[in-house]
Amino acid sequence: MDALATMTATANAPAGPGPHGTLANRPATAANPPASIADITAAPMTAHRAEWENRLFADREMLAHIADTVGGPFHVLYPARIAANIGAFRQVFDSHGVDGTIYYGKKANKAACAVRACADSGAGVDVASIGEFTAALTGGIRGDDIVVTGPAKSEDLLLLAASRGALIAVDALDELARVIELDIAARILLRVLPERSGSRFGLNPADLATALDRIPRDRIRLEGFSFHLSGYDYAPRADLASQLIGNCAEAQRSGHPATTISLGGGFGVDYVSAQDWARFAANVTPDWFHGNSLRRYEFPREANEAFYPYHFADPGAAMLDRILGHRGLAERVRAAELRVAIEPGRALLAGAGNTVFTVQGVKTLTHHGYPYLVLTANGTSLSLSEQWFDSEYLPDPVLWPERAGTRTPTCVGGATCLESDMLSRRRIPLPRAAEYGDLLIYPNTAGYQMDSNESRFHDLPIPPKVVLHDAPDGVGFTWALDSAAL
Ligand SMILES: *Cc1c(COP(=O)(O)O)cnc(C)c1O
Repeated sequence: MDALATMTATANAPAGPGPHGTLANRPATAANPPASIADITAAPMTAHRAEWENRLFADREMLAHIADTVGGPFHVLYPARIAANIGAFRQVFDSHGVDGTIYYGKKANKAACAVRACADSGAGVDVASIGEFTAALTGGIRGDDIVVTGPAKSEDLLLLAASRGALIAVDALDELARVIELDIAARILLRVLPERSGSRFGLNPADLATALDRIPRDRIRLEGFSFHLSGYDYAPRADLASQLIGNCAEAQRSGHPATTISLGGGFGVDYVSAQDWARFAANVTPDWFHGNSLRRYEFPREANEAFYPYHFADPGAAMLDRILGHRGLAERVRAAELRVAIEPGRALLAGAGNTVFTVQGVKTLTHHGYPYLVLTANGTSLSLSEQWFDSEYLPDPVLWPERAGTRTPTCVGGATCLESDMLSRRRIPLPRAAEYGDLLIYPNTAGYQMDSNESRFHDLPIPPKVVLHDAPDGVGFTWALDSAAL
């Protein structure tokens, strides 16, 4: 009996040790050994599919053609979706009658086409380095549509920002002093340290008061205040935004213009259904994972610490709607005649990209006697960043071409010599057994997954970004390589 046939037999057998699952195969120390192959297989996390992805996956040739042409793994981006996401945020601002500005948090993806989509859709860009700043200018963003965040910015970056009329989010008093020393006109925000926060970013109330006194009003325009919170709840953002309305009023009393409050980023992305996420989080166990990975978490109790919350009832623009609707925030912003800025990174890229690997190896391993497949992809987990944050990217990859078969627990490793180079440590219930040459498409990777950790480790090439635009027939696509330097 070959491994896959065994797997099928085991999967179909009643709960209890299968052909390989005899007690003798199990470590004597295991308190609760898995009772069936289902117990070593992760719950499914089926990613929402964008309309353009349905068209792409249904095309019998396009993906395989790109894979052949590129000759390695590649990322796919569909900028029309970024434009749609920007439009959705704008619509929420409009529906609340709030003057809103959207800055794309550029660190979420280096693709030039993302900046270009912002320029074409009237969004600005949030940057934190000279490289990001110049990439924004190159992509068609005007200097005054750029906001510069990040701690203790270099003098070169401050000079570039000030001279181009960008908004500088000042993070500390010493940084403010360096902005003043530039001795040229500058537009600034003051980043606020949230109350009871242990963050290393932002100014506390005493520093804020000092800053108001020190800012020379003839050269430095204090345009307002900003924050960026970790976590994904709307209420803390609305509450802190209310506080910033007060900061603006106080600054105006000291003669500063102060008409902008920036709520930062952290708008959630909805990757999977509520049901998939709830079932996964409630049942996750180390027995779902290859090797000893994630054993430091006490599952399922710590599922919410170990993983990004992959389901959101109110993601992206809907979360902005909740924030503006919370305790009359929109009314108060309008009454104070303020402008609200946001800096979404991940949420502007929601549903706008995926990452495609080719299967270049298939082997069978066992856990407690139950067989599962380990695939080797033709790239590395450096192209799936979540794997490097002691966590796991949970939306299930799509095995392409899609066809019926036997449900097969499958892990995915990278083509390197590192034991820890795993694109998926958990045993994913793929709908069939993968074969050499199949494609494995990781969904919804545009926000943070693609390129924050990529390097030329092992002299492997960095995966190119393939940009899709709708073909004139409205069904197919044209494609080109993204123009950002690799
Ligand atoms: C990272 C970052 C963002 C973007 O965060 P997302 O979670 O991607 O929306 C926005 N503003 C600042 C200051 C950041 O550091």
